[in-house]
Amino acid sequence: MLRDKCGVVGIYSASDTKVSYSIFYALLALQHRGQESCGITMRTDGDFISEKGMGLVNEVFNLEKLDKLHGSVGIGHVRYSTTGESELFNAQPFVVRHSKGTIAIAHNGNIVNAEELREKLKATGQAFVSTSDTEVIAHLIVREYLKSEDMVEAIASTMRKLVGSYSLAILTDDALIAVRDPLGIRPLSLGRTRDGGYIFASESVAFDVINAKFERDIKPGEIFVVSASGAKSHRPYKLPRRAYCMFEYVYFSRPDSVLNGIPVYEVREKLGMLMAERDEVEADLVTPIPDSAIPFALGYSRAKGIPYREGLIRNRYVGRTFILPSQQARELAVKLKLNPLARQIAGKRVVLFDDSIVRGTTSRRIISILKDAGAKEVHMRVGCPPIKSPCKLGIDMPTHEELIASARSVEEIRSAIGADSLKYTRIEDLIEAIGLSEDQLCLGCLTGKYPVEIAKYEQLRLPVYLKK
Ligand code: SF4
Repeated sequence: MLRDKCGVVGIYSASDTKVSYSIFYALLALQHRGQESCGITMRTDGDFISEKGMGLVNEVFNLEKLDKLHGSVGIGHVRYSTTGESELFNAQPFVVRHSKGTIAIAHNGNIVNAEELREKLKATGQAFVSTSDTEVIAHLIVREYLKSEDMVEAIASTMRKLVGSYSLAILTDDALIAVRDPLGIRPLSLGRTRDGGYIFASESVAFDVINAKFERDIKPGEIFVVSASGAKSHRPYKLPRRAYCMFEYVYFSRPDSVLNGIPVYEVREKLGMLMAERDEVEADLVTPIPDSAIPFALGYSRAKGIPYREGLIRNRYVGRTFILPSQQARELAVKLKLNPLARQIAGKRVVLFDDSIVRGTTSRRIISILKDAGAKEVHMRVGCPPIKSPCKLGIDMPTHEELIASARSVEEIRSAIGADSLKYTRIEDLIEAIGLSEDQLCLGCLTGKYPVEIAKYEQLRLPVYLKK
């Protein structure tokens, strides 16, 4: 089973304007959420047309392809796989034609019990054309719809079967629908387009690029339906707690996004400030691993009174190492993408800020790059507390063995990455910086306590780990 970390978008024009270009631009703004494949599905003249491909958004789409994508309502998706099955058949949106119409789905998240649900569907004769959990969701919704002919009821009863994280963009014969899982694990925001239509997307940056206006977040457990008769919100599924993914704030989302009403940039800046308050180190400068650690380092620099300097220059044409599919590719990418500014750092005691340490490979290589460039000391500071357990809810941290903090002390990690000192953010500081209470957040990869039941389904996922 594949587990995705992706971005979704859906746009409904109020003036019958063709929206494929807007979806394309929104996907470009969400490109950081998935770089292996992308796709757009439009509804036009009662039919669904799709364009999907492997690669970046501006590699897959060109003017000719976008021109052919007619229609004033559509959905889009960017994706990367986490188990190596990076194939076109898993690219989304996923389209299912059934006896009463068509449905297209784009999904961000991970369905923990997808394998169990897939087996149950197969036992009733359901055929599958992909290994994606999104196809499982699509077939479940279609089955429920064929029974009730009520799409909201079909989605609500599918939600009751799903365990895991999901933000969905759904296109049906007469509506555009946004769905967010009852814990709100993955983000999903709602906005208004300039013509009075609707847009929803994984992050609010997708609105900025097409001059749409942020309205609010899709609520956990909400089904938001836009059709010719207007927009309607349904909340069949309310839970007392939420579980917003903390990693969206510290690493995954763009700093210019606002998630669940909280600006990501400000969270990262505050984390730097909180780190500075309890840091005794003496240093000449603080430098970020660009780009994602910049706000952390700026906050730290201001609070601690140590000058902020750029010590590493990023080659912007190389993808983020964390989401490249193999270890070898990730190591090569570190060398390709960061070059030290030797004149800034030679002979200096450097505080190096990063947003997180996952495998430790990148930190080790960057510290070695800085030392080779003449840094006298390198003190590593990390915006995210130690990641000790794999994420089961949609972010690529597949095994305990690959996580450097899963079985090592901070001192052992410091030694492994070659830093002169190492300090992580504390969980209580992370909670304070985000500004929500602990029961509103998912901290599963830090604490091993997940907001949904995972253990029951672990056995089913073993073949996935073995395949790697
Ligand atoms: S386990 Fe970690 S990365 Fe995964 S959803 Fe929870 S907080 Fe986010």
